[in-house]
Amino acid sequence: MRRRGWVLRAVGLLLLVVAAILVPGRAAAATAPAAAALGPAVTAPTLMAAAAECYRWTRTLHTGMRGRDVANLQVRVAGWAAFHSFVAIDGVFGAGTRAAVARFQAGYGLPASGTAGPGTYAKIYALQDPDCTPAHFSLAELDDSAACGGGFDGGKVSSLEVQTNVRRLMWKLEALRHQLHDVPLLVSSGFRSVACNRRVGGAANSQHQYGTAADVVSPGASLCRIALAARSAGFSGILGPGAEGHGDHVHLDSRAENAHDGLANAFFWSAPSCGIKTAGAAAAAADV
Ligand code: ZN
Repeated sequence: MRRRGWVLRAVGLLLLVVAAILVPGRAAAATAPAAAALGPAVTAPTLMAAAAECYRWTRTLHTGMRGRDVANLQVRVAGWAAFHSFVAIDGVFGAGTRAAVARFQAGYGLPASGTAGPGTYAKIYALQDPDCTPAHFSLAELDDSAACGGGFDGGKVSSLEVQTNVRRLMWKLEALRHQLHDVPLLVSSGFRSVACNRRVGGAANSQHQYGTAADVVSPGASLCRIALAARSAGFSGILGPGAEGHGDHVHLDSRAENAHDGLANAFFWSAPSCGIKTAGAAAAAADV
């Protein structure tokens, strides 16, 4: 009986985690008509099947379509956004999604049709680990340090939301890595609990506490090269060389998509030594 109870708990936890991954918060919070357009709810057996390989698409997706499968696609191509833009994870296949899909396709040597079919899915599957993270980044890498207790709890939002945010961030990092010709990108700091953030001297409202930020370095690319490329990888927050405290890493975040941080959902880029700067510096300068 004890063993059976453990198995049931494990399966329940797995379902919760997979549901959190596959059901974007924004889509779940959509208005009733939009939610209905997302299609039938995913059943438990489907979730179990998905758990073994994360997710599989069952139809070709193109402009005008809606659904959870669109949202799942948006997460995977979010790092292929236009310059100074991001792909909304809203389950609606619009012009921005189409353009991001086309850039993803071109980036991986596929015909840049902007329509996602078997060829595009095959590439995503090749990049995707069973836990829905991209090939070159791991959840452990994005977790706060063991010295801080580890895990994704203790942040400014729930552990499940942190992990959803972290996975989205990781797909942007995967795109950025490929755009930099596959140089390794090393995450020196990802999610931080509130306590951990305080301990390392992070800003009170740091994006790291939501799982929406990563500090990166690379043995194969300069900090400026990383920061410059990040402008076309869906990152609304970029801090690098020339910005106080950012002489030895590039801070990347998705603040414009963070509805919980009390900030206007605007872009803030500052890496003066790399020639990068956006307006709004005074408002967000401390938010690192
Ligand atoms: Zn940072």
